[in-house]
Amino acid sequence: MKGYVLDTSVLYYGKDLPQGFECVITPGVVRELDKEGMSARLELLMATRVRVSSPSERSLRKVSEESEKTGDSRRLSEADKELLALALDLGYELITDDYSIQNLARAMGIPARGFDQKGIAEVFVWQAKCKGCGKLFPADVRVCDVCGTETRTRRKKS
Ligand SMILES: [Zn+2]
Repeated sequence: MKGYVLDTSVLYYGKDLPQGFECVITPGVVRELDKEGMSARLELLMATRVRVSSPSERSLRKVSEESEKTGDSRRLSEADKELLALALDLGYELITDDYSIQNLARAMGIPARGFDQKGIAEVFVWQAKCKGCGKLFPADVRVCDVCGTETRTRRKKS
C-alpha cells in the first residue's frame, strides 16, 4: 500500500489531494486545523479521504535524535516531529512545504517533497550565531557564552 503523510499547510490551502492513495495526518495536524477554524473542512476530509494516526514512541525518539544532529530541532515543533515519525512508521511519502521538515526527512532517508516546489536538493546543517558579538555555536546553543546575548539559527556555510 502506498500513501502520503500530509502536513497542515497541504490541507489548509485546499489543494487537491493525491488521487488513489491513502492520506494520513497526525493528531497534531488535526489540532492545528481546529485552531485555524478549519473544522468543517477537516470533517469533510475525514469522512472521505483522510485518516488520523499517531506515530510510535520509537520513531519519535529517532526523529528527535536526528534533529539534534542536523540542528533542525529548534525549528521543528512537536507536531512537525510527529509527521516525520509517522512517515517513518508507515513508509509513506511526506508532503510538506516546510523546509526544515524536508531537510530532516532527507537526512533520515524518509521520502518527502513539497506540494508546490520540488523540494530541496541537499541536506544543510544549521548553526547558531550570537546576535551581539557574532560568535558561532552548534545549533542548539541559545545564549552566547561570551556576551550573554541570544543567538539566532542560520544555515551553515559549507
Ligand atoms: Zn556574543
